[in-house]
Amino acid sequence: MHHFAMKNGSLFAEGLSVKELAREYGTPLYIYSAATLKRHFQAFDSAFDSMEHLTCYSVKANSNLAVLKLLASLGAGMDIVSGGELYRALLAGVPAERIVYSGVGKKAPEIAQALSAGILMFNVESVQELERINDVAKSMGKIARVSFRINPDVDPKTHPYISTGMKKNKFGLTIESALDAYALARDLPAIKPVGMDCHIGSQLTTIEPFLEALDKLLAFYEKLKAMNLDIRYLDLGGGLGIPYNEEEPPHPSAFGAALTKALSGVPLKVVLEPGRVIVGNAGILVTEVQYTKQTPTKSFVIVDAAMNDLLRPSLYGSFHRIEEVAPKGRAPQDVDVVGPICESGDFLAKDRQLPEMLQGELLAVYSAGAYGFTMSSNYNTRAKAAEILVDGDTAIVARRRETYESMVAHEI
Ligand SMILES: *Cc1c(COP(=O)(O)O)cnc(C)c1O
Repeated sequence: MHHFAMKNGSLFAEGLSVKELAREYGTPLYIYSAATLKRHFQAFDSAFDSMEHLTCYSVKANSNLAVLKLLASLGAGMDIVSGGELYRALLAGVPAERIVYSGVGKKAPEIAQALSAGILMFNVESVQELERINDVAKSMGKIARVSFRINPDVDPKTHPYISTGMKKNKFGLTIESALDAYALARDLPAIKPVGMDCHIGSQLTTIEPFLEALDKLLAFYEKLKAMNLDIRYLDLGGGLGIPYNEEEPPHPSAFGAALTKALSGVPLKVVLEPGRVIVGNAGILVTEVQYTKQTPTKSFVIVDAAMNDLLRPSLYGSFHRIEEVAPKGRAPQDVDVVGPICESGDFLAKDRQLPEMLQGELLAVYSAGAYGFTMSSNYNTRAKAAEILVDGDTAIVARRRETYESMVAHEI
């Protein structure tokens, strides 16, 4: 069952009319479906039910507190990449022992913040970071649990900007250098190596690269055992893709089944860090048509959402399905859907077949729940959109629309 569906010729988010929501809260407007979030989290998490596991939702995909609270209520742990995300996760009620901390550039105060909270582990991405964590932990009289992020050098066959597990990427340690890092970690007084970690990329549409990375990590695990290290966690990161257009990524149940099989008999607790697959298709961005215009070579639909609201098309050339909120059955034409920002790179869709649109009509940009609002900015001093969480027949304002005043509040 789809929670964004047409009823009587107009789009609904669960029990509520998108048109009514746009009228009440204005546009551009992010709308999330609580039922979809729940279904996605439970489908993913239950795919690993036959083994010891912890699903740590990747906060950067969508860090709205209402979303985090909902996922926390379902038992989700969280994968964070900054002190700010740690603050959000704790505020949402996520127990610290279900939080893992990833990212290549952790600062000392962020490390101290995570140690104070008592997170499950740091996913360490360099030897210098390990040394810094040791120093900070020692000064606090704490022991830091760590995993190393290992770069298994597999090609996830995704967009280069979201491929992270190849030798040429900035992330993690090569398998060769990781062995020395574990030896060093074993000898540092305030460090306890407890896990292995990898995250090879995002929007993967096949299982094979995950299995290839897993194979390499399991071979490496044997070496760690030979060093008498007490490794308990295997963090396989996130990255499972979603259908934006024609992609046919594996269902989480197939993903879970394949990993469960590959891990049978391995005495490690598996940590997973899904982001996009949980929230991507649980959200839409609603935008109002401002103008249409024709040049000799192009037709444009100018809408009130822009690259500051949804950056993915400009940043990655990503495809987002765009459809009328209330289809009128007019003939399709070839258009670019663009925003008001003063950049030629400001577009939501290029060369798209879309029925003729009139001023004031609404478009829904689909699959906008992940890396949508979290990547938004105030470029062109545009207020960030409001975010609405719909649960059945109820809408809550998960984030108020920014105002001119709130945008200048930190300036003198
Ligand atoms: C971004 C990220 C994720 C989540 O990736 P998705 O593709 O959204 O599932 C998980 N782990 C790490 C370390 C990340 O950087």
